[in-house]
Amino acid sequence: MLTLSEANMYQVVIIGAGPIGGRLATELSSRGVSTLMIEEHSEIGRPFQCAGLVNPPAMEMVGLHDTILQSVDGALIHSPSGILVPVGKDGRTRTHVVCRKRFDQGVVAQAMDAGAHLWLLSKPLDAVVTDDCVKIKIEREGKIVDIECDLLIGADGAHSWTRRYFKMGRPKEMMIGFQTDVTGMTGKDNWLEMYTGRDFAPGLFAWVIPTGNNTHRIGMWARPQDLDGKSVEQCYHDLINHPLWKERFSQAKEIARYCGPVPCGIIRKPYSDRVMVIGDAAGMAKPTTGGGIGPGFRQIEAIIDKLVYSIEKNKLKSNHLASVCKPFKSFKKEQDRARALRDLLVSIPSDEELDSHFKMFNRPEILDLINKVGDIEHPVPLGMTLLRKVPEFRKLAVRAGFKLLFA
Ligand SMILES: Cc1cc2nc3c(=O)[nH]c(=O)nc-3n(C[C@H](O)[C@H](O)[C@H](O)COP(=O)(O)OP(=O)(O)OC[C@H]3O[C@@H](n4cnc5c(N)ncnc54)[C@H](O)[C@@H]3O)c2cc1C
Repeated sequence: MLTLSEANMYQVVIIGAGPIGGRLATELSSRGVSTLMIEEHSEIGRPFQCAGLVNPPAMEMVGLHDTILQSVDGALIHSPSGILVPVGKDGRTRTHVVCRKRFDQGVVAQAMDAGAHLWLLSKPLDAVVTDDCVKIKIEREGKIVDIECDLLIGADGAHSWTRRYFKMGRPKEMMIGFQTDVTGMTGKDNWLEMYTGRDFAPGLFAWVIPTGNNTHRIGMWARPQDLDGKSVEQCYHDLINHPLWKERFSQAKEIARYCGPVPCGIIRKPYSDRVMVIGDAAGMAKPTTGGGIGPGFRQIEAIIDKLVYSIEKNKLKSNHLASVCKPFKSFKKEQDRARALRDLLVSIPSDEELDSHFKMFNRPEILDLINKVGDIEHPVPLGMTLLRKVPEFRKLAVRAGFKLLFA
């Protein structure tokens, strides 16, 4: 039988049992690393702030197909003046829409099946890093508990306690997302809709996502500097009351609403002695879509073997973790390039310029190209191909060259 202090010693303690913490705990536990997840809420997957899009490779990693509410084959993308560009093909799934609560619970259940422990209603109060371990004070269901671990990992989301406590900096961009769940709308079940326009989605876009049984998620996200004093909630009202679109939303009956941050821009040094952060805590979400689940899963996949080796050898100083986290450099580069192209093609142009881009996109040969090269997970190759092959975009190519050079 374990003594109390042995029971409170783990090789790894993960703060946050969201999808990334849960996935990482599964990978660690299934390789024999003793792991504890600390979650501040009383249940997994609540509250959630997410459109629920999970791309097929991420879904394959966890096999939680029973959490899919709707598979999506394409996007109906609308320009500010209403030009429609359909991207996708019926029968070819581009992404899945999941019930986030069931998805997160499924991911965390996999971790527990693999041997990880979970403490609900628990949060860290302080942490001290010594040469041999990390000593953490946890408030667990109102009581103070001391635990020790070899490595502390923060998978505690956009406002990460771990990142702030260990002064690891801030993600480059912190978008604000707003979303409602509605009933009463109809439309193509397996296509999502995207809307652009400065009035309601300054710099980025709004979305309508089918979630099965005539329910939809309507949302938008924006960079704070583009909002010009407006709230994202006001943007939402401007979308559903917009002269071009109010008919589309006239039957929508709101049943829930939520607002949340989307951190895009991996922090420069997501590690220090015996501490690291991952997922939203590290700023992993995509600057082009705001998706954080797929990138977080890829981040884990990229480091897991080396991480487990370092844990087993107890090589967990900052320089060791720098070597473990080396693949993040290419993720950061990819994010920076995607952000640069996003700014050039979507965030900076005026509504008139966006309309002229949409006119080009709508030509059959360009649509063909988009459908062939386009990959929402890797938007840079498509952006570059468009700049190279579409004559009207060539004038942007020089600016793109500079932006990519300095991204
Ligand atoms: C409006 C909106 C729409 C989005 N849509 C999508 C989408 O369609 N697809 C997609 O992939 N991504 C989407 N995202 C982003 C996505 O939600 C995140 O990238 C994803 O949830 C990140 O997972 P995570 O595990 O890193 O963090 P989180 O999901 O935030 O999980 C962190 C966990 O840590 C817990 N926690 C936090 N602090 C503490 C603490 N101090 N102590 C203990 N526990 C703590 C939290 O309770 C939570 O359970 C969206 C975001 C927003 C705001």
